[in-house]
Formats: sequence, C-alpha cells, structure tokens
Amino acid sequence: MENDLISKQQLELLTREAKRLGASASAIISSKEILVKDDLAALCNGEYPCPNYGLAASCPPNVEGPVEFRKWQAQSNYSITVKIELPASVMFSDERKGVMQLLHQIVAAIEHKAIEIGFEKSKAFAGGSCKELFCDDQEKCCVVAENKSCRHIESARPSMSGFGIDVTQLMMSSGWAAQKAKDASLSNKDAISWVAGLIMLA
Ligand code: SF4
Repeated sequence: MENDLISKQQLELLTREAKRLGASASAIISSKEILVKDDLAALCNGEYPCPNYGLAASCPPNVEGPVEFRKWQAQSNYSITVKIELPASVMFSDERKGVMQLLHQIVAAIEHKAIEIGFEKSKAFAGGSCKELFCDDQEKCCVVAENKSCRHIESARPSMSGFGIDVTQLMMSSGWAAQKAKDASLSNKDAISWVAGLIMLA
C-alpha cells in the first residue's frame, strides 16, 4: 500500500482490534525501528539448541530467517506491536500455554484484518513454538513431514526468534518497559511479565 494512502485511523483501528481481542497494549511503530540480528536467530540451534528446533514449519531451519525478513522490512513502513502483560507466576504455570496461544491468535487476527483493509503482504510473528502450542498431540508437523497445509493456519504464526528479531528493542520502540521477571520465586511472585508479537504491514 502506498505510504500516502495509509491513514492514522487505519493503524489505530488495528491497535484497537488487538486490545479488543485481549492484548494489554498495542502500538504503532516505524518498521525501520525493528532490529534484526543474525546472532539472535542463530541461538535457536546454538550451543544450547531450542528443543523445538526443526519441529515445525514456523521455526528454523524451516523459516526464511533474518535475510528474508530484512527484505520484507524494506517494503514496510509501519508495524503493529502487541503485548500481553501477566503476573510472572502465570508464565511459570500451566496457564502459560493458553496465554501463548492467545498471543498467536491475536497477531494472526490482526494480520488478517490488515490484509482485509489493504495491507495485502502483511506478516504476523509471535513467540514460542506452534508445535508445542497447537500440535502437541500430533507426532509431527504435517507441513514439514507431509507438505500439507498447517492444521492451525488461522492461529499459528512463526516465532520472532527464528528471524532474529530483537524483542527488547521492539518493546522500547513501542514505548514499553522491556524488563521481565526471570523466575517466579516467592520474592518475585507479584512481578509482571509479558509476551509480545508483531504484525509488519505491507
Ligand atoms: S501444523 Fe502444527 S506444528 Fe505445523 S506449522 Fe501448523 S501449527 Fe505449527
């Protein structure tokens, strides 16, 4: 979409929708502010590999990674960020899965809405592995194993990690504090944690 056709109202419509769907906050940022680092993407299969590495179509090595992301970024002027704030104790409980699923559902819905209003090449990114979140009961990701369509195409989106997106920078660009609780120890039980997602508009 041409830059001069993008109205503030359209962008605000997307942030309002994200909040209506359950985000604690949603912001409009310049896509140029998204920082992508090759070394962050490399962590997925680094010295301490992610247990979900290679299990789903939306995680490395099955995603396009930082090189392609930068090409998409060059075609995008604005992005929408979303965060869900929650007590740290929830992130370290059985409720975590539901929160992460909600994050995927929100960014996927905003991507859908963005496409509907004319940002036809928009792309959404969340956090966590969709294999763990949506297909835990399946032996394999059917996209990777059988080249079939994703079972949860309406909700599951790639993790920002596999593209090397610097989430701390994303939070700061959104005007949000980037610190989060690292554990749910007793002294820390009231600490606030968060999860975040991104919809790059194009
Ligand atoms: S089929 Fe399941 S594991 Fe594979 S991409 Fe879709 S949600 Fe993820």
